[in-house]
Amino acid sequence: MYAYYSRLIQKEYKMTHARNRLLNELILITEYISADALHFRCKDIGIATVYRTLDIFEKLQIVEVIKRDKCKLYKIRHPRKYFHIQFVCKTCEQVFQYDDPEMIQAFSIFKSYIETQFHHMLDDSLVLEGVCKSCLAKE
Ligand SMILES: [Zn+2]
Repeated sequence: MYAYYSRLIQKEYKMTHARNRLLNELILITEYISADALHFRCKDIGIATVYRTLDIFEKLQIVEVIKRDKCKLYKIRHPRKYFHIQFVCKTCEQVFQYDDPEMIQAFSIFKSYIETQFHHMLDDSLVLEGVCKSCLAKE
């Protein structure tokens, strides 16, 4: 699912070497990290670029952000916490994943409607059931 982040960046911005490098570094880090500490791990990238890139990642909700002593700390958002759309074929039990940004965005609108009107969703996933194209062709 991390590939989704790459596609999301690419869709909104250009995927530069620095963005790719910082994304890959963040994936390896399990704790919250400051921009300075991230810069220390990626010394080939300028500090201003690190700050700019983290702003973009924050905007795209790729990272979770907390504030500690006026300093922002960042952590990659676990993909499992991200929206998840699946289609399950009831005949062959194949699972199809949908993670393109338009679908995710549409689902997030649907999800916030459900939450404001009715319930709190515990799981950020949407599972659709049916019969896949190839099983339909066999019938
Ligand atoms: Zn099928």
